[in-house]
Amino acid sequence: MDCLFCKIIAGEIPSTKVYEDEYCYAFKDINPIAPIHWLFIPKTHISGASAVTAENADVVGRIFTAIAKVTAEAGITSGFRVITNCGEDAGQTVPHLHFHVLAGQPMGWSAESGV
Ligand code: AMP
Ligand code: ZN
Repeated sequence: MDCLFCKIIAGEIPSTKVYEDEYCYAFKDINPIAPIHWLFIPKTHISGASAVTAENADVVGRIFTAIAKVTAEAGITSGFRVITNCGEDAGQTVPHLHFHVLAGQPMGWSAESGV
């Protein structure tokens, strides 16, 4: 499949791995917008949050379980943010479901800025 993140999972495109299990893969974002900026993705191809269904939703819980574990192991105690962009208005650029994990600085909040 011609999908950037499927190719990263397959090892065809290099990435800096943060975590991996049977269901998900996590790696450093190539263009970080916070001191810590990781991407957590399902190993199965799901195009985005709008394509989550009762049949494939289990992996979303697996990913959040992994996020809780990895942030705790990294010693992130002052908080983190999880974002998924879905579709054009949200600025989704890679059509494979992914959760940005941002941490390492205080973050404001607006529809325009993730940080
Ligand atoms: P989004 O804009 O929400 O679809 O997020 C896509 C993210 O993927 C962006 O933050 C990019 O910086 C990141 N990205 C794109 N290509 C790569 C890559 N080869 N390795 C790591 N992160 C990437
Ligand atoms: Zn994919």
